[in-house]
Amino acid sequence: MSFVDDKSRHAFSKAQKVIPGGVNSPVRAFKSVGRDPVFIDRGEGAHIWDIDGNRYLDFVGSWGPLIVGHAHPDVVAAIKRVAERGTSYGAPTEVETVLAEEVLKAYPSMEMIRMVNSGTEATMSALRLARGATGRTKIVKFEGCYHGHSDQLLIKAGSGALTFGVPTSPGVPTQIAATTISAQFNDLEGLREIFQREGEEIAGVILEPVAGNMGVVLPEEGFLQGVRSLTEEFGALLIFDEVMTGFRVSYGGAQGYYGIDPDLTCLGKVIGGGLPVGAYGGKRRFMEQISPSGPIYQAGTLSGNPLAMNAGLATLNLLQQPRVYETLQHNTTRLAEGLKQLAQEAGLPIWVNAVGAMFSAFFTDTPVKDYTSACTSDVGQFAKYFRAMLEKGIYLAPSQFEAVFLSTAHTEADIDYTLEQARIVLKTL
Ligand code: PMP
Repeated sequence: MSFVDDKSRHAFSKAQKVIPGGVNSPVRAFKSVGRDPVFIDRGEGAHIWDIDGNRYLDFVGSWGPLIVGHAHPDVVAAIKRVAERGTSYGAPTEVETVLAEEVLKAYPSMEMIRMVNSGTEATMSALRLARGATGRTKIVKFEGCYHGHSDQLLIKAGSGALTFGVPTSPGVPTQIAATTISAQFNDLEGLREIFQREGEEIAGVILEPVAGNMGVVLPEEGFLQGVRSLTEEFGALLIFDEVMTGFRVSYGGAQGYYGIDPDLTCLGKVIGGGLPVGAYGGKRRFMEQISPSGPIYQAGTLSGNPLAMNAGLATLNLLQQPRVYETLQHNTTRLAEGLKQLAQEAGLPIWVNAVGAMFSAFFTDTPVKDYTSACTSDVGQFAKYFRAMLEKGIYLAPSQFEAVFLSTAHTEADIDYTLEQARIVLKTL
């Protein structure tokens, strides 16, 4: 049966007339994989259906939040129950405390938490706190890490230009870009040099403890510990952006998995169960400086809204059932290792990084340990792979530099099916 996407094409051309690029977030446009996007009609469990009726096994899960799959009955029931009582009050509700307590239990580094509406807001607010608490201005981020679209974080260093950030996007004032210093992931020596040069001006270091936004890149042995000790030595705050890794690398995130104690943590995605959410939290002595208990201002009309809080809580409850993370890890490893073997059999270069319920398979022979090595991947090869897999009913993130996300809805049979399709596709590349 041939693949038909007439309705999606039509929907995309209509959307492009009124929405920039036809999408409300750039990666959805499939630009880097050389085809138009499919428009989604509905999702259930591990599957999504597009408006032409094609069914896909979904390995995007709305870019991470849907770790229990689409429309899980418990999450849907929670949302329905709440919606009937009103969707937002702009006043405190008890469920905000319940979710806060639930998260703090799983993340001992966090003693207090503030809910916001997106990962972008979480990281942006954490940086303000780091600056307010230290009285310093500069921030260190790592090339290839993504922390949302606020000005100060849309920075990628020009090669060798470590002293000033180069804005990635027009519209980011150079004065703001200059406050962000770019470092290389897994390069502790480089970070030490930065601190030796301008340590007294550095308010904080922000990183994805497992990078997921240059494809999955794992921290090498000792890297996270090293970043922890350097920040401590120079009086800067260590900010873990666990928007993606939180409740995904393990229930306790990457910090639980690797045993690191950051000062501040940013969360999002999973804790909102598919509704708009972000959160930041950390040591009480810092969090108490947030308004209204302290002078550092941050607010939100819809922050902590009952729909998102209850959807998040229902999701966390499901994740606490026995063997959830063992199964997620098992399926992730099977798929990642299976793909590696199939690519090797097909004579293709391949490098796989996997942890918890996320992985990336890079089309390269080079070990991927930072942005530069990730960029050795053959993106043309990936684009062909992506398009062929899509037409075989496997929905992957439309970029080589994104993660594959598994959910509890994916079964062993789903993994087998995916590998069968990949075997056919990889041979044609
Ligand atoms: N931090 C990380 C690590 C992310 O992966 C993302 C989004 N993918 C963000 C921050 C930004 O979150 P949001 O898109 O909800 O603003």
